Amino acid sequence: MAPQSSSQGSRSSSESRGRRKTCFCGERPSLRTSSTVENPGRRFWGCVNYQIGEGCGYFAWAEPEGLKNKASSLKQELQKAERKLALALAVGILGWTMAGLLLYDRLN
Ligand SMILES: [Zn+2]
Repeated sequence: MAPQSSSQGSRSSSESRGRRKTCFCGERPSLRTSSTVENPGRRFWGCVNYQIGEGCGYFAWAEPEGLKNKASSLKQELQKAERKLALALAVGILGWTMAGLLLYDRLN
């Protein structure tokens, strides 16, 4: 099974510069949904021959930006948590100050 590359070499050279449209056995990859623990429900492109056990092992995430978005939202969550912590700290200090003042009043 040697790949035929001589017939349309000049035409495919410009296409190959972009994202790969075919898997290593020259087939169009099929869109699948991941079921791994690390990436549940994430879509990826896989070899169409994978189902019959003769796949070439081609694999590419269909949503490469997903990880980026996840990271930025994580950052936002972190900032939100930091703000909450700062607020809790401020309320705590205020509470302790009030308690201290009350105790001071009661002792005198
Ligand atoms: Zn393949």
